[in-house]
Amino acid sequence: MIDEVLKRWLAMPDKCFSRDSRVDDTAIHCDCSGLINLLVEELGGKLPYGIARPKAVHYFSVLQEVGSRHVDALKAGHLLSWRKEHLPKSGDTGHVLIVAAKPEKLDDAHYKVSVFDSTKARNGLSQRDIVLQVDKQGLLIGVRLHDDETKIKRTAMYHQALVGSRYCFGCGLPARVCCCDCVSALKEAPPIVILRHPDERKRTLSTVSLIKQRYPTVYVREGETFSAMRYPNLCVLFPEDATVDEREGERPNAEGLPSLGVGEGGGDERTLLLLDATWRKAKKMLHDNQWLSELPRVALAPSQISDYLIRKIPTPDSLSTVEAFALACKDHALQDLFRTFVEKQIALMGKEVYQRNYGHYLNFEEAKTKD
Ligand SMILES: [Zn+2]
Repeated sequence: MIDEVLKRWLAMPDKCFSRDSRVDDTAIHCDCSGLINLLVEELGGKLPYGIARPKAVHYFSVLQEVGSRHVDALKAGHLLSWRKEHLPKSGDTGHVLIVAAKPEKLDDAHYKVSVFDSTKARNGLSQRDIVLQVDKQGLLIGVRLHDDETKIKRTAMYHQALVGSRYCFGCGLPARVCCCDCVSALKEAPPIVILRHPDERKRTLSTVSLIKQRYPTVYVREGETFSAMRYPNLCVLFPEDATVDEREGERPNAEGLPSLGVGEGGGDERTLLLLDATWRKAKKMLHDNQWLSELPRVALAPSQISDYLIRKIPTPDSLSTVEAFALACKDHALQDLFRTFVEKQIALMGKEVYQRNYGHYLNFEEAKTKD
């Protein structure tokens, strides 16, 4: 189906690269994200985060939640994307394309892939080959987009089938708990960067998806070791003297200090690093990344107990990643979105199951078991 549409568009006499995307019977004018927007509209799908004209970064954002980084899972009809860390005020935010065929192995670290995309270099829509680089595990780590580029660009990439996914592309959540239209997306994200342990995304409930629904351009890096990041007044959200053993399996969030001044403008704005990992893994991330362990630390002081009713919290001041984010930038709409999401989960499991499995939790809500 995707193939059919793209081949029809490819055969059109009037193709060119344009920031104003349009298609009719004889012409297709588009940039990289414009091509995907036209395709999604043609197929009757949902655009990421309810944005009228999403850019590459928005596709990247949703693919990072619902997709794979592995070359073996890359197939025809998959959307593949990467993004710039620092987004320009206008112009390219990254790249997004459609995979035309399964990748062909060139050597242990490189694959050739046929793709459909729209680029300035080809003046619009074309089908061509690009080169992808993989690490020893087969994870995508780099790309050469044009033959005349001598170096492979290192970047994180994610992909997923555009059609037939069990996820909703509109919100990046499993379709059964779709939260499209529950919150409006904001154009700019607060100065918060998320470092996510790879295990976090394997969980069925990733609360970072909710953060992205509100702040689609938030920068998330996935891994266990990270190269040092340069941002003004960088600090990490982590308690100074955490007693990790007591909190085994849980998240490094709330403790003690007054709330952050992020997202409020002013000259000495801080950039906050948020670790999306269990306690043990967050501590290991600090240990394995010396630059991270040397950063100033801050902690949040939540005024109420976590709304994460379906995950065990170790202490009354423990927060989920999305709640820490909401508290750091004082965003009540994001906290409300989280509540809606948790309520949908409880409705799906049923009141009795909620009572039985979660009744002993610190933040159990009796009211959720009543009509
Ligand atoms: Zn949705």
